[in-house]
Amino acid sequence: MAVALQNLFQKAGSKTNFLQGKFESKNTLREFQNPGDTRIHGLIPEVYNKWIEMLTAFEKEKSPNYKQTMFIVSSFRNYKHQKAIWESKYTGSKPMREPIKGKTPKEIIDLILEFSSAPGTSRHHWGTDFDINSLDNGYFEKGGKGYELYSWMTKNASRFGFCQPYNSLSLRNGVGYHEEKWHWSYRPLASELRNLWIQEFKSGNIKMSDYKGSDVLGDRALDYVSSVALECQ
Ligand SMILES: [Zn+2]
Repeated sequence: MAVALQNLFQKAGSKTNFLQGKFESKNTLREFQNPGDTRIHGLIPEVYNKWIEMLTAFEKEKSPNYKQTMFIVSSFRNYKHQKAIWESKYTGSKPMREPIKGKTPKEIIDLILEFSSAPGTSRHHWGTDFDINSLDNGYFEKGGKGYELYSWMTKNASRFGFCQPYNSLSLRNGVGYHEEKWHWSYRPLASELRNLWIQEFKSGNIKMSDYKGSDVLGDRALDYVSSVALECQ
């Protein structure tokens, strides 16, 4: 296993703590700020370096008249933060595509899982993954402001080790999260973390508990962590 990961597990208290985001960004991750922005985005130091390299290359290689820059909207989120997002959707305080009124717990969970992960199962727990520019696929598609950026990413992100884990659902047998053109991942470390997560879940060291709906989600958590684009595995 990468030495970098062993150090991080130690800082988080244990391997399973790290895999479930049960640690604080400070002292464990390197913190990135978009120019002119005060928000802090935690990344594993190796991921931070590769992100800067990619960012610099994009600025150099994009068309001279292209106005969009690449920036991080969200990277590391800890367990507590993910639990708050999940429960705000589960209880209906944060609206989703359809209202939760009259729905069974399973139906509510299906709605949440279109775009959000259960606490302990998010790739945002690892310091390897981040969202860029806009949480809207249309932004990255033909006619959208981010079209050139996305075209550049699909051709060049792999030069720096990055891949898009949530590609078209049809390429993933219809299993898992919907497509997210904004979500990118550092494969050299995330692939290893995904394998470890699956291993620890199967051996019962990672369990779904202590959040609303966790008993209903159960083993489906495994499908959602497993289902990523081939190039991210
Ligand atoms: Zn994301």
